[in-house]
Amino acid sequence: MKDCLFCKIAAGEMDTDFVYEDEKVVVFEDINPQAPVHLLIVPKRHISDLNSLKPEAGDLIGHVYQIAKKMAAKFKIAESGYRLVSNCGDNGGQTVYHIHFHLLGGRELQWPPG
Ligand code: 5GP
Ligand code: ZN
Repeated sequence: MKDCLFCKIAAGEMDTDFVYEDEKVVVFEDINPQAPVHLLIVPKRHISDLNSLKPEAGDLIGHVYQIAKKMAAKFKIAESGYRLVSNCGDNGGQTVYHIHFHLLGGRELQWPPG
């Protein structure tokens, strides 16, 4: 997707530092962190949002969860706890329409979310 910010970031076109990368995903720090640890786990393949997710993407999403677990350990929030969240659509608070997963931790998070 030519004009998609996260496609550009994932392709290495924005000089973003990756904290992790493999053939399926990139992980980098959110530019506007909402917690001491706030990472974005972004599939390299463009999928605009959760509504567009096909059943065949099940493996990819399973992989995202495995990487989230790995990053939680790497950033030392595995024991204290963390949240993995994907916002969908306007009411969900999605602002970038390339599917991504926020990994948040390092402080006690509120529930319900605002
Ligand atoms: P959403 O609001 O779609 O759930 O999440 C998009 C996230 O991307 C936001 O938390 C926002 O701060 C982050 N973001 C937007 N543009 C950039 C950018 O250029 N670089 C980085 N690292 N994060 C970004
Ligand atoms: Zn994209």
